[in-house]
Amino acid sequence: MKKPTIAVLGGINVDLVIRCSSLPKPGETVKGISYSHFPGGKGANQAVAAAKLGGKVVMLGAVGTDEFGTDLIRGMGDISIDNSHVKRVAEFPTGTAFIIVDEKGQNLISFVGGANDTIDEALIDNAEQDIKKADVFLVQLECPVNIVEYGIKKAASLDVPVIFNPAPAVPLSDGIIACCEAVMPNESEAEALTGCKVCDTKSAQRAAHLLVEMGCKAAIITLGENGAYLYKPDCYDEIIPAPEVNAVDAVAAGDVFAGAFSVRFGIGDNLRNAVIYANKAAAISTTRNGAQTSIPEAEMIK
Ligand code: ADP
Repeated sequence: MKKPTIAVLGGINVDLVIRCSSLPKPGETVKGISYSHFPGGKGANQAVAAAKLGGKVVMLGAVGTDEFGTDLIRGMGDISIDNSHVKRVAEFPTGTAFIIVDEKGQNLISFVGGANDTIDEALIDNAEQDIKKADVFLVQLECPVNIVEYGIKKAASLDVPVIFNPAPAVPLSDGIIACCEAVMPNESEAEALTGCKVCDTKSAQRAAHLLVEMGCKAAIITLGENGAYLYKPDCYDEIIPAPEVNAVDAVAAGDVFAGAFSVRFGIGDNLRNAVIYANKAAAISTTRNGAQTSIPEAEMIK
């Protein structure tokens, strides 16, 4: 089968996680039960999902010259992600999220963009030949929004289909949505973009229609356990349910969905089949702990 090429522009982070019995209040110190660190960042999560599910992935991003940066680049390289457009910056740390989780699964999270915030137009320009060769340009909003918008416009001008996962939600310039083949928000991001609160199939349909009115060719709103709403005028206007699973950890489900969808779209599947596949991959990921550790192998998706 053809291996689609996916160029991913996005955040690469390390997640530092302390588990404790109860979350500290301001000024309080709580002894933790355990500490671990994991690779994360929406860009890297989506790149790893796409690579594990059969994509040839080119990553555009930035990490620090610290050990975390070295480890993250090595981890992506180990699964054949091309990191030649991941720059190393000495002046800033690798993007870092500090996460404290209590026994009930509630969390406190603070993060710094660090090296991710140094991604600039030159990095995109240097990658132009690789973007041009890609079947899909996949991007989220963990990098500076002006650079994300620059990347989207660049890919669109090169006739590379843009799959845009607008997470986390931030205000966008006029015309950006119109550069995208598909915009893929979750419920709250869809509300931020359209002003329409998404709480059921009808409101998901309304938000999807509003997104397409903004100019994208298709809208895909992910709906957690309910799957995703797919709208493309004259082709699809329907909810596509996710398989029922025993979910234990939905961290990065949206990232797995985006990576999996991009691979199938890049292969040439129609949008409906790509969403069905992405639902399956993302549902499996919710049955496993962690972000990148929860991504299924391609063979697991039947
Ligand atoms: P995000 O993680 O970005 O908030 P969602 O919560 O909408 O995104 O989840 C993304 C996708 O993950 C869904 O469209 C669905 O395919 C899958 N998913 C999430 N939660 C579940 C669940 N409990 N059961 C089955 N699939 C799920």
